[in-house]
Amino acid sequence: MIATTMLAARLHEAGAPLRIESVPVPQAGSGQLLLEVAACGLCGTDIHLAVDGDIPVARSPITLGHEAAGTIVALGEGVSGFTLGQRVALFPSPICGQCRFCRAGRESLCEATQAYGMSQDGALARYIVAPVAGAIAIPDAVDFATAAIITDGVSTPLHALRSRGALRAGEAVAVVGCGGLGAHAILLARMMGAGFIAAIDTQAQARERAIEFGADLAIDPAEQPHPGRAIRAQLGRGVDLALEFVGRPETVETTLRCLDTGGRAVLVGVGPGRPALPPLLSFVGREHSVIGSFGMDKRDIADLLQLVARGRLDLSRSVSRIFPLEGVNEALGLLAKKGTGVVRLVVEPGR
Ligand SMILES: [Zn+2]
Ligand SMILES: [Zn+2]
Repeated sequence: MIATTMLAARLHEAGAPLRIESVPVPQAGSGQLLLEVAACGLCGTDIHLAVDGDIPVARSPITLGHEAAGTIVALGEGVSGFTLGQRVALFPSPICGQCRFCRAGRESLCEATQAYGMSQDGALARYIVAPVAGAIAIPDAVDFATAAIITDGVSTPLHALRSRGALRAGEAVAVVGCGGLGAHAILLARMMGAGFIAAIDTQAQARERAIEFGADLAIDPAEQPHPGRAIRAQLGRGVDLALEFVGRPETVETTLRCLDTGGRAVLVGVGPGRPALPPLLSFVGREHSVIGSFGMDKRDIADLLQLVARGRLDLSRSVSRIFPLEGVNEALGLLAKKGTGVVRLVVEPGR
């Protein structure tokens, strides 16, 4: 029997703590499932929404949380391919499954503009309704907390490295910004056979962790204002692929300056700034590519779940702490603070 009300972490006003409130349990409509949330990851987007308020929400109050894993407890009309009691992870936005991008397996570009925690209630609650198009089966060997962080924190860097950056074994990589996403980019680049990995971050703990996760060189841009030079000093040339996870014009510039002739820069970080291209003679003459990478596709999440299940990818250091729903404000505070060494945080609403 499913209860009629549940507790949810609701955003009323950015900058104020989320309120733990009782709300009606939603019902699965046509093409939807009702998920009992076992784990929901937190990330920088939640800080933008709840703490800084620089990403607006479409309605308020709204339940936050977009990195969900749990068990299917109800299925709406017309749903096939999934069963009650099945463990699934959710694509971090409610994709339509119908548009030209979804049909092409490029869910990152889905034309449905809904988002959990912005225009539709999210997963920081006992239950969430989701389109079945966004459900991905979790292998038995993968726990819920790991599955939850895979949906965004690990799949976003995989998408940037693989689909957008086209990383090949042996290539040299630079990662600018080594928080949760950048740290996983290093771990994945290592798994994918990168020949050299440079990590660039102003935080000492982020640099230490970057080395633990597989970087060959960690650079503090406060001490070394031209990280590209430090890379050339060690490698003898620039990198083939550089990834940017910060979203500021100056860090984009740093990223471009790390590139070898013919190199690719993949920009993942977003922000209001407007970075400039280098002088055309250098940009064109050296055949540099600048590539945007937004989120992930479903296959990024599905492939990562299999890689963990088969022991190819070790994410045992990725979940730094698990909180009950009542601890969500403490978790957001910890995530917003610099220099804590946190990789990813998870909330378990059923705890
Ligand atoms: Zn996220
Ligand atoms: Zn779509």
